Amino acid sequence: MSTIAAIATPNGTGGMGVIRISGPHAIARAAEIFVPIRGKSPLEMEGYTCAYGHVMQHGERLDDCILTVFRAPHSYTGEDVVEISCHGGRFLTQRILRAVLCENVRNAEAGEFTKRAFLNGKLSLTQAEAVADLIAASGENALRCARNLRDGATYRRIAKFSQTILALLSDLAVWADYPDEDIPAVDEAVLRERLASLREEMQTLYDTYDDGRILREGLHTVIAGRPNVGKSTLFNALNGCERSIVTDIAGTTRDVVEEQIRLGGVTLRLSDTAGVHDTDEQIERIGVEKSLAFVREADLVLAVFDGSEPLTEDDAAILSKLPPERTIGVCNKSDLGSVWMPEQYGFFDIVGISAKNRDGLEDLEKAVGRFAAKHVTAAEDGMIANERQRSCLEEAIRAVQEALEALQMGYAYDAVTVSLDGAADALLQLTGERITDAVVDTVFARFCVGK
Ligand code: GDP
Repeated sequence: MSTIAAIATPNGTGGMGVIRISGPHAIARAAEIFVPIRGKSPLEMEGYTCAYGHVMQHGERLDDCILTVFRAPHSYTGEDVVEISCHGGRFLTQRILRAVLCENVRNAEAGEFTKRAFLNGKLSLTQAEAVADLIAASGENALRCARNLRDGATYRRIAKFSQTILALLSDLAVWADYPDEDIPAVDEAVLRERLASLREEMQTLYDTYDDGRILREGLHTVIAGRPNVGKSTLFNALNGCERSIVTDIAGTTRDVVEEQIRLGGVTLRLSDTAGVHDTDEQIERIGVEKSLAFVREADLVLAVFDGSEPLTEDDAAILSKLPPERTIGVCNKSDLGSVWMPEQYGFFDIVGISAKNRDGLEDLEKAVGRFAAKHVTAAEDGMIANERQRSCLEEAIRAVQEALEALQMGYAYDAVTVSLDGAADALLQLTGERITDAVVDTVFARFCVGK
């Protein structure tokens, strides 16, 4: 195994920089370029200890630094690791990295440290993927979830599925392999029940995929409503800038503008769409159709009404198309009085605001926070975090379903065994315990260099 090195801190100016070295030559190489002022040479240092000294190259002192030694297997990668903490700054960290590189030490590729941790059994693949998500986490919620996954929340749930399948397989095998022994027959009803509850648990985990997407990307949010209720004004108020055109003429917001904002600790991917109403004008019709499509697919709809006026036909038409459990009713223009609230439609929540005066926006923020909270709670016990994991789990569920159908159709237990083998295999691919090099490479290519 080669020894690798990289700058582990971000590419820029900062108070500190860290150069990480991992592999069989890590400690010997560190000893060649590091002169301790106080403390021992890296060769004599025990794991989890530090020394203060200078990094030298060709007799020149590059910087003073703290050097930390981790001895295999008690390190992030499972190999010998040395971390040099020096002063920050791109130029300096790169010079130190250059001093470290030599015949025996090469530049690390993206994600190579974490890949080694995975190959050395330090992390499951779902945990390793969570490391990339930790780095990319855009907010407190996403960070908390990624941390749980890094600690193995998803892995533990999958391992439980694998154990159930292996137990079932071994029951079936014992029964099939020793027909002459006095082993009680595998009861078909019990088998069916165990398979059905396994499939259900797997499906529950599968359903967290949407929660994961929401945490990573934010809530796809649509502001919907008939013209002139104040959608653009609300959009701009949330956004803090004038992105969409606000006018008194109905139907001026013709296309869809998308913006990402943070509200109540949640990222909203906000689309301001054309008003949802009947119209003959072609451009507007396209806008309206688009906005209805957005409403169907959105995670959250902010349905805006003019609360100072009675309900109109256009409002009623929109109300019939909203998904109530994903809708927050927003009664705008509270500064002009309130004659109406969409109370009987079963919306997730209703808030009264004045977008123009920016009144009531905190209530909207709280409602959005509560709406997002259910996704976060669902995801905290482990979740399906990306497309690779989703397709492996889908395959496992399909195979368990196939086993159930084989039972229902009265096939021999052999057919059940074959399907369950398939399910076990898909789960091993999901955790990375049985996986091809090509997949491993794709997973780690997402990482940044130095991690
Ligand atoms: P949209 O067609 O739904 O996007 O509505 P606009 O945002 O363009 O607003 C239509 C008109 O309503 C504009 O004249 C806004 O200034 C006005 N408006 C928006 N919000 C409020 C509000 O909270 N109070 C009052 N009084 N007027 C508002």
